Amino acid sequence: MDDDHLHLRLKAYEGRPAAVAGVGRDPVNAPMIRHWCEAMGDANPAYAGPDAIAPPTMLQAWIMGGLGGPGSVHEGRARAYEELLSLLDGAGCTAVVATDCEQEYLRPLRPGDEVAFDTVIESVSSRKTTRLGTGYFVTTRTEVRVGGALVGTHRFRILKYAPAPDAATAAPVAAAAEAHRPEPARADGLRPRPVVNRDNAGFWAGVGERRFLIQRCVACATLRFPWLPGCNACGSAEWDTVEAGGRGTVFSYVVMHHPPFPAFSPPYAVGLVELAEGVRVISGVVGVPYDKVRIGMPVELEFQVFDDELTLPVFRAREGAA
Ligand code: ZN
Repeated sequence: MDDDHLHLRLKAYEGRPAAVAGVGRDPVNAPMIRHWCEAMGDANPAYAGPDAIAPPTMLQAWIMGGLGGPGSVHEGRARAYEELLSLLDGAGCTAVVATDCEQEYLRPLRPGDEVAFDTVIESVSSRKTTRLGTGYFVTTRTEVRVGGALVGTHRFRILKYAPAPDAATAAPVAAAAEAHRPEPARADGLRPRPVVNRDNAGFWAGVGERRFLIQRCVACATLRFPWLPGCNACGSAEWDTVEAGGRGTVFSYVVMHHPPFPAFSPPYAVGLVELAEGVRVISGVVGVPYDKVRIGMPVELEFQVFDDELTLPVFRAREGAA
């Protein structure tokens, strides 16, 4: 089957169901919420006590099939989706990697809510060549309901691909970046793109102007980074921004050693930098050999140009620091 013909057959699945009348295995419940919060280190008081809500990002947790796996009655997996995956398998795209996920929350879920869902095959990309191999991005969109009312949507993207011979050296994060690129071509050495979405678009717009913007809650003035739709301290969705002055210190760091990957030259240091404003950011530490980075080292923000389309904030060791 040639590529064009295969793509036409794949496109025919767009709009068809991937899961029909799925039902959450358990109602939304306090023990799962508690385990999630402990695992995430999220102490937000909104998720505990008699009026607790579930963390919004748990949305997928309520609709997962569990160890019953695909085909379990709870998942409501539809024949069309099985066919699509089989078609891809048959074309040699036997490997799969989840690349990214987008969620929307219409109202909080609370213990006792019984979740139902339907999933549609939203799109199948044209053939893409990634570091992992050549294949197709398949995006599904799940509508989650309680009592018939829509409470959230969950858009999930996978790459079904034929593994490249050197796939052992590739990183799934590269596939995630590539999912958002319009064209498959990616010159060697080009750094993966950040994933820009509705929640963080303002941050990247700031970077485009060489400004590092921190979100500030309008209600309680708590600063937050990375960008989030709501305040972890008080729950308010109202925010404005403050621009970081650029001073910080290395709060912690790791030195990355990994197999060759064109965009990076290991070993290199990645810092968890605490800005003077108090928030922490993960970023490259430059201007000092990787093995000279130290906790407490003073650093200063700068913007590093990687190529025509990509500028990233990095932190340079301040003079005398090394
Ligand atoms: Zn707040």
